[in-house]
Amino acid sequence: VRIEREVSMNDHETVAGISVSSPDRIIFDKPRLTKADLARYYEKIAPAMLSEAADRPLSLLRLPEGMEGERFFQKHPGKGFPKALKIVEITEKDGDSEPYAYVTDASGLVGAVQMGTVEFHIWGARRDRLDRPDRLVFDLDPDEGLGFAKVKAAAIDLRETLGDLGLESWAMLSGGKGIHLVVPLRRTIGWDTAKLFCRGIATLMTQREPKRFTASMSKSRREGRIFIDWLRNERGSTAIAPFSIRARPGAPVAMPIGWDELPGIRKASAFSVEESLDRRWNGVTRPKPQTISRPVIEELDQAMKRSA
Ligand code: ATP
Ligand code: MN
Ligand code: MN
Repeated sequence: VRIEREVSMNDHETVAGISVSSPDRIIFDKPRLTKADLARYYEKIAPAMLSEAADRPLSLLRLPEGMEGERFFQKHPGKGFPKALKIVEITEKDGDSEPYAYVTDASGLVGAVQMGTVEFHIWGARRDRLDRPDRLVFDLDPDEGLGFAKVKAAAIDLRETLGDLGLESWAMLSGGKGIHLVVPLRRTIGWDTAKLFCRGIATLMTQREPKRFTASMSKSRREGRIFIDWLRNERGSTAIAPFSIRARPGAPVAMPIGWDELPGIRKASAFSVEESLDRRWNGVTRPKPQTISRPVIEELDQAMKRSA
């Protein structure tokens, strides 16, 4: 009788109201994290994570068998997705409407874990106004082998370049190799303007210091440089959500950090799941939503002309 009960106990585990199947399945070997551990992590981190990730179309990186098995990005929820993952129909470029998942609560996050999700990637706009981005993301992508000190210096310089235009940003370790800078926006501009503006910033930094930066995705141009990836700022593009676990060795977390903490940080994958739960937004100031106004754009144009 006892054995039977144990078997049935491990058949599924309820987390945030979601029945999680195969709770003991090992997703990460080191540190050892089971599917139930992931579910409980996302349940606990939900309030911190949802303040940035709620109500946005998602792209889910699923690894149903864990780190050793296959992985795939999924934009459109399929059959069998829990109802806790809500659906917004989005008209795509070709005019067809496609369903996208979004979450509003812990059960949504755990529902995605039930489907094998490890990473949550978010749009830069919320579902009620998909044509108006409310966050710009600058994704600093270092060339392979470039030290993290150079990535930190790039983040600080990018922060200053934005600051010169009157724009404040917050920083996040990607959990991979780079740092993301986020500029919260009032929803006044469209994607075309947002993308042009971000490309302008990347181009300006590259004009000023072509040995350090590139605004081009091409790997050959990256040699020894940092790619200022401005392409996150397109309709339908995504970036890793704060507090998402990364499907990379060691289960690092995409971690918001305070500007004053940055000098002391050794790598972009410095924070574990446990540290993430301890930290949350502690020490991080997210600036209020800001406006990319005409004068801001003109100021950027002038700066680009000066450095050309
Ligand atoms: P790193 O610091 O290692 O660069 P990252 O999360 O910034 O980590 P990138 O490769 O720079 O990783 O990708 C930036 C973002 O682009 C990802 O977070 C993801 O949202 C999106 N992305 C990248 N590849 C894909 C893909 N194949 N399908 C969907 N989205 C993708
Ligand atoms: Mn990146
Ligand atoms: Mn990138």
